[in-house]
Amino acid sequence: MASDIEIAQRAQLKRVTEIAQQRLGIPDEHLVPYGHHKAKISLAYLDTLKDRPDGKLILVTAISPTPAGEGKTTTTVGLGDALNRIGRKTMVCLREPSLGPVFGVKGGAAGGGHAQVVPMEDINLHFTGDFNAIGLANNLLAAMIDNHVHHGNALDIDVRRITWKRVMDMNDRALRDITVGLGGPANGYPRQDGFDIVVASEVMAIFCLATSLQDLKERLGNIVVAQTRGGQPVTARDLKAHGAMTVLLKDALAPNLVQTLENNPAILHGGPFANIAHGCNSVIATKASLKLADYVVTEAGFGADLGAEKFIDIKCRKTGLRPDAVVIVATVRALKFHGGVDVKQLNTENLAALEQGLANLERHVRNVREVYGLPCVVSINHFSFDTEAELALLQQRMARLEVPVRVARHWADGGRGAEDVARTVVELIETGPQAADGFRFVYPDEAPLLDKIGAIATRVYGAAGVSCSGKVREQIRKLEEAGYGRYPVCVAKTQYSFSTDPAARGAPSGHTIDIREVRLAAGAEFIVMICGDVMTMPGLPKIASAEKIDLDDEGKVVGLF
Ligand code: ADP
Ligand code: MG
Repeated sequence: MASDIEIAQRAQLKRVTEIAQQRLGIPDEHLVPYGHHKAKISLAYLDTLKDRPDGKLILVTAISPTPAGEGKTTTTVGLGDALNRIGRKTMVCLREPSLGPVFGVKGGAAGGGHAQVVPMEDINLHFTGDFNAIGLANNLLAAMIDNHVHHGNALDIDVRRITWKRVMDMNDRALRDITVGLGGPANGYPRQDGFDIVVASEVMAIFCLATSLQDLKERLGNIVVAQTRGGQPVTARDLKAHGAMTVLLKDALAPNLVQTLENNPAILHGGPFANIAHGCNSVIATKASLKLADYVVTEAGFGADLGAEKFIDIKCRKTGLRPDAVVIVATVRALKFHGGVDVKQLNTENLAALEQGLANLERHVRNVREVYGLPCVVSINHFSFDTEAELALLQQRMARLEVPVRVARHWADGGRGAEDVARTVVELIETGPQAADGFRFVYPDEAPLLDKIGAIATRVYGAAGVSCSGKVREQIRKLEEAGYGRYPVCVAKTQYSFSTDPAARGAPSGHTIDIREVRLAAGAEFIVMICGDVMTMPGLPKIASAEKIDLDDEGKVVGLF
């Protein structure tokens, strides 16, 4: 089979102006084209759609994945194309890829096989410059902090307690821990600093939760960057940085329109980390799509314990968005992995391991239906090694839970391969009980912060409870005292397990979720609780994919997945 980039380069793309006008009815003056195949949709135009009814929202999530990824993005794109094929006006809504993984480990973020968004080279490399704008806004604030200290430090910032880091959209481990301000008084005060990758910036999370430019500016102003020597928080507003940061982001905040391989409209906008942030595309993009299409398919990062939980408790809570149905992506491979099979043996039939590994899928199904209160369908992302016996076993076990299971072959066959899933989703939405009746958050706003993470741990992760040091408990108490207790919790933990141990596969229970560290994201309006190792500046592997990426003699990008 051809590589992802070969398939993408063979696609017959339509002009983005044609997609916008003919498929979505967006007038020319409200489209800001970036070349022929990418365009921003003006925020002013989206404002005029306020009174239109919303389409139906389909959330794509997954079982606890293996490091290869189980196919949420491909399923989102394939399902979008399939819904269009069966006559439903559908858009897909995704995150923009970060450059770090593009040059790091092989694996695109624009789908794969015959389920991709295009132009894939552009989407994976710079795209419309949004991440650059987000990085600049982040770094302007960083520069203004050091400049403030240099020019007399009127706010009395404690240089040992500056938490705001610089960012860059590149995997570069050498920048994790650095010293800035060396070289004498003209260069400011030396201090320990570091870089994160752009997608880990709080500006990215804010960008994706903001509902308007005004809301964006307000939230940027609320960012806490440091403490004074007296222990008081210092904000971006105190430094008068938020206005200029908003200026840098004003064009980026308009969502980006592209198309799928089958020429259906897709919006890609924003891309926060799924660990220290909430891991889904911008609220502006999701809301815009719901006005422009009857069905919107969107993806939340990681598995249904993390991505879907944050989608519901962080993104939906504040914005009123509500999924109408959930698609849980699973692969036979990953289920065998959860049943204890070694990564190298995943392509061999193993019914016993599959049987055991199914516990992982079952827990996710129960969570979606009983904890989040949403109707769901299990979509098996078909790999060529899957055997009939394995697929039959899966169907059988899921029948016990009375959850529909469909095999999806969009990766090999495009939208045609996901029509079964599409029909089932439509049935769930149009004839099943309305999701709005069952939808629930995992915890109420007014619960104490420790009870919030306690609810996630026990109800979603199957844990016995949470633990933390006295220091963390004290930090949490202080946050509540300072009025941040009503914020939702954003759990940063391994995506590979319901526990905090990435090696605990399947459906572990009775474990303890230990909170190692708590961070306030006052602009994003959530409290990050770190339960395990989180990497906010990845490194490149020994053989980086960058070594294979090249431009051929005709000026075509090669080697990109
Ligand atoms: P996720 O969004 O869950 O991380 P992706 O949809 O991005 O997963 O898929 C991860 C990788 O696996 C991509 O490189 C994709 O091309 C590949 N992939 C997805 N589905 C299949 C499949 N059915 N067969 C082979 N490769 C696949
Ligand atoms: Mg993905």
